[in-house]
Amino acid sequence: MQPITSTQLYLRLLRFVKPYRGVFALAVLGMMVVAATEAALPAVLKPLLDGTFVDKDERIMKWMPIVIVAIVVVRGLAEFVAQYAINWVGSRVVMDLRGAMFEKLLQLPTPYYDNYPAGNLISKVTFDVTQVTNAATNVLTAIFKDGLSAICLIAWMLWLNWKLTLLSLALTPAIVLVVKVVSTRLRRSSRDVQRSMGEVTQVLQEAIEGHKVVKLFGGQRYEAERFREEANRVRRYLMKQATAAAVSVPIVQLIVAVALAFIVSLATVQSSADEITVGGFASFVTAMLMLNAPLKRVTSINEPLQRGLAAAESIFELVDEPGETDTGAVAIPRASGALAFEHVSFTYPQAERAALHDIDLDIRPGQTIALVGPSGSGKTTLANLVPRFYHPSAGRITLDGHDLEDLKLESLRANIALVSQDVVLFNDTVAANIAYGSMKKVSEAEIVAAAKAAHALDFIEGMPERLQTLVGENGVKLSGGQRQRLAIARALLRNAPILILDEATSALDSESERHIQAALETLIQGRTTIVIAHRLSTVERADRIVVLDQGRILESGTHRELLATGGLYARLYRTQFHIIEA
Ligand code: ADP
Ligand code: MG
Repeated sequence: MQPITSTQLYLRLLRFVKPYRGVFALAVLGMMVVAATEAALPAVLKPLLDGTFVDKDERIMKWMPIVIVAIVVVRGLAEFVAQYAINWVGSRVVMDLRGAMFEKLLQLPTPYYDNYPAGNLISKVTFDVTQVTNAATNVLTAIFKDGLSAICLIAWMLWLNWKLTLLSLALTPAIVLVVKVVSTRLRRSSRDVQRSMGEVTQVLQEAIEGHKVVKLFGGQRYEAERFREEANRVRRYLMKQATAAAVSVPIVQLIVAVALAFIVSLATVQSSADEITVGGFASFVTAMLMLNAPLKRVTSINEPLQRGLAAAESIFELVDEPGETDTGAVAIPRASGALAFEHVSFTYPQAERAALHDIDLDIRPGQTIALVGPSGSGKTTLANLVPRFYHPSAGRITLDGHDLEDLKLESLRANIALVSQDVVLFNDTVAANIAYGSMKKVSEAEIVAAAKAAHALDFIEGMPERLQTLVGENGVKLSGGQRQRLAIARALLRNAPILILDEATSALDSESERHIQAALETLIQGRTTIVIAHRLSTVERADRIVVLDQGRILESGTHRELLATGGLYARLYRTQFHIIEA
């Protein structure tokens, strides 16, 4: 991929500003007014001093106070408008960027999530976005307000006394040099701060998420020390930063003082030649001192700029990531559920060995197929190909005779319900979790019916607010079996013709398992079912059992047939099923 140039990044960011160009223009206008009034203050200083103290001009004495207040009022209003408008545009752009990123996150293909840590993606959406707009706001302010202020002030100084101006400008390189040296140091240490801040977050996150392991294994002291170390590193870098900033102020002041000394001596020579008035001199010095701040901001614009551009790059990298391919054109309202695998092979990206080899499998509508095999044999992988979380590397899968690739993704997935070992619950009510994705379309009666059929109603009735109880983050307030039954209720409510059960009961005690067993029997009725399990009678009663080993189909047949052949299934059955059920 070609590296994105800065210009391309600006242009893309500008596209996000485009919808708000009116308010944006207002912000720029406000900044320009501020810049103009900046020069107006020293400009009125000259007639003020010369007119009142030297010439005792009555008109000036009367009007000057009003003019000064007026300038400050205009300036204040413009400042407010500029700040408000630029922040308003910034907040809108942040929201739009976040929206674009979140939408992309929802569309990303499954392999993308396999390769990117969640923390990385989260910090893109939360942190990087604000970096961009902060930088953009700073840079715009620097250009339109500070840049213009500096130009206005210099113009006024030149008009007032070009000799003094050139002399004082001759000293600017010295100031710029100091600022440069200091800002390089600042940039380096702010990078250090960011990095060690990341380390602190990491330690923090691990300690919070792993708090049980920390307690059980007595890791408190270790974690505390790790945290202290990282926190201290942040502190040291911050101190370095503060020192650099603190040193620069007196140095710049010294240079300015030297400049002033020069100017005063030159001015005294000029004033004896009557080239300069008291007001003119005071106005000049004021303008020169006022020039300092905007100049400093304009010259140090590079650092926020680079930080912002880096963040923008990271954002657009995500936004440009291709979403799931969905080129299918066929929409099937409700499949009858004939599912066929034809010579399907699959290799995970970057994996060395294929996870599935030449799988041939024909499932008739309403049939139950059990997948059995040692851990890592490819059962989950096979199941994941059906909703097109991954694409076969070779061969094809058909549903009712249509190649899955020809179906619209939405239409394909609407026909599939999935209950897996790790139930995903959202931090919402029980009802919303059961009706996930179709909350608006189903009635409470339907939800209750599904919960009942899933043997979940008993415990739901016992909860403080029944169906309206919040389940907590990923359902922490529920037991494993209860979570599982909610997942089954969700699948029941979805009422899809194809059902995938991936170790839906592996983490359960036998009491919950009895409940769930019964719930599953209801769920399986009249659906094409792929069930992955190692200790259920569902497996025994399946129409066909397919034994996978290292990604290949080793044997297949009914429970009875497979026991009779005495192959891998018979061995697995004797070692696992019996011992557990005994
Ligand atoms: P099972 O469900 O039968 O225990 P899986 O289908 O999960 O087995 O895994 C089959 C093989 O694919 C294993 O060797 C596993 O390491 C590999 N695998 C599983 N998921 C991924 C993934 N997301 N990326 C790369 N390899 C994977
Ligand atoms: Mg698995």
